[in-house]
Amino acid sequence: MNYNTFFKDALAGLKAEGRYRVFANLERIVGKFPKALYHPDNGEAPREITVWCSNDYLGMGQHPKVLDAMQSAITGQGGGAGGTRNISGSNHLHVALEHELADLHGKEAALLMTSGYVANWTTLSTLGSKLPDCVIISDSQNHNSMIEGMRHSKAERRIWNHNDVDHLEAILKDLGPQRAKIVAFESVYSMDGDIAPIGQILDLCEKYNAFSYLDEVHAVGMYGPRGGGVAERDGVMDRVDIIQGTLAKAFGVIGGYIAAKPEIVDFVRSFGNGFIFTSSQPPSIAAGALASVRHLKESDVERAAQKERADTLRARMREADLPVMDAPSHIVPLMVGDPAMCKEASDRLLFEHDIYVQPINYPTVPRGTERLRFTPGPLHNDELIDHLIDSLLTVWSKLGISKVA
Ligand SMILES: *Cc1c(COP(=O)(O)O)cnc(C)c1O
Repeated sequence: MNYNTFFKDALAGLKAEGRYRVFANLERIVGKFPKALYHPDNGEAPREITVWCSNDYLGMGQHPKVLDAMQSAITGQGGGAGGTRNISGSNHLHVALEHELADLHGKEAALLMTSGYVANWTTLSTLGSKLPDCVIISDSQNHNSMIEGMRHSKAERRIWNHNDVDHLEAILKDLGPQRAKIVAFESVYSMDGDIAPIGQILDLCEKYNAFSYLDEVHAVGMYGPRGGGVAERDGVMDRVDIIQGTLAKAFGVIGGYIAAKPEIVDFVRSFGNGFIFTSSQPPSIAAGALASVRHLKESDVERAAQKERADTLRARMREADLPVMDAPSHIVPLMVGDPAMCKEASDRLLFEHDIYVQPINYPTVPRGTERLRFTPGPLHNDELIDHLIDSLLTVWSKLGISKVA
């Protein structure tokens, strides 16, 4: 085995296909979001660019309440939490945050984990391996963190066609009411920006005695009168067995969690290796997340502004005949349909127009549906939208990208 050749060839393959990942080197500047400093790889001086693809959807990562809470937690409690909760105990900010998150979702309990990825992986792998003869029924577009957790559980897995409730029902019927069944799905799917029919899915879970697991990562902070997610907006939160979320997207910090009935949360706390054997979040992170969740429970200003901006951007793209995909959510995907072209469009926007939008290629999306994914926020003003539309039209015509979605 020639190790070096193997690694180099694998990378060359990615490059040849146009899907080698390059991450822009960005320096965020407090008070200037969505602008940031871009540090070019060639050592040229840094320059200001506009970020159009951040999942800090509402700019909470720079909110004064969040920064104040983080700073005073550092001053008061220092850097790290001191290890795993299993060995070193819970920080009281972890406990306070769990109470806040349980309340956000109308549940009695919540469990904090180090990321949304870890929360999905840990919970699904634990439930899938412990529930006797369990089958996990998984939406075909579920996130990698769910897929890896399900795989690790070694439970039987059935894939249901994306958001297709008839197909889900056929699978549930086939499995029968006796068998342990977890229906795992998301609310907002972040690449197409479409939204699951949560109520109908829960009807089926109830009818066939299945356990529901809902990833609201892209919806927490964003939907519902208190930012509890699409299940809150649709009035069905109390019917979901486990709601999973992140503190790293709309809440602007880092961390993940589940919210559920106490015995479910206690089960994952007691058997979930991805919770037990890893150190807990620094207190400052929990403090920032707590401030962010509390703020967005009470304030609708950010959500309303974000929605208006997303609607405006979508309308402007349509007017300009740009191939914007239809989506009922806050995400604005623009179809390119070719990996090399997608990368080239993204490069030109960055190098020639000071606009940062990451290309989304396979395996994040199916081949042939490569796209640019825009996440307008409350702070993307009209001037930034004008500049974006002009720049997109220039790049589209220079590269000859199709205008038909
Ligand atoms: C980002 C993401 C996650 C992972 O959450 P992190 O907190 O970033 O680890 C889980 N599910 C979905 C659908 C995501 O997009």
